[in-house]
Amino acid sequence: MQRDLLDALRCPGDHDESWLVAMVHVAVGSDLRDAELACPVCGAEYRVTEGVAYFAAATVRPEPGTHVDADPLTGDMVVRLAALLGVSESRHPVALFGRYAAASAALADMVEAPQLLVNAGPGPVAAIATHLYVGDRLPFGAHTLAAVAVDATHATGPMLASAAHALRVGGRLVAPADASLPSGMRELARDAHEWVAETTARANGLVELRRHAP
Ligand SMILES: [Zn+2]
Repeated sequence: MQRDLLDALRCPGDHDESWLVAMVHVAVGSDLRDAELACPVCGAEYRVTEGVAYFAAATVRPEPGTHVDADPLTGDMVVRLAALLGVSESRHPVALFGRYAAASAALADMVEAPQLLVNAGPGPVAAIATHLYVGDRLPFGAHTLAAVAVDATHATGPMLASAAHALRVGGRLVAPADASLPSGMRELARDAHEWVAETTARANGLVELRRHAP
């Protein structure tokens, strides 16, 4: 896990947003390999082990016979995903959930932003990617992420709301077509499979500024 991410992390516990206190045991340059993260509000402790951040136990792979989201992303789909995420210039992190993590390596050729692979299975990933495992919400503060792609397995109301909260103003969220749009987001486009929406200022608690005509 990149050390830069520490500033963006918040306890996913059910209380007012809180920073996490980090105790780093092993780091290689800016890469945290082994660390403990503690919440000063609720006392919860989370681990970084072998560079992977665990806010929940690693998700198990789908049972054989379930084919939900099992299709790999083709080259065309990666190009499309990059366009939907709209982050070609961004240096802020992009979060890819579940099946979208399969686009990691190909996406890194097009987009420089650091990647957060959330509840992803095994597979080749970009060198700039950090794996993390989460429960029912993302452990990030407001205005920290450039874009988020949530797959069908993870597109619950609380998860999408936490993604909307973590996005920067104008940041984009890609989610399955049948998922509800979180409040404070404006839909930009949709097809039979996915919609893409943009954060408005209200989604993450910013007071909207009104410009007065001169
Ligand atoms: Zn907490």
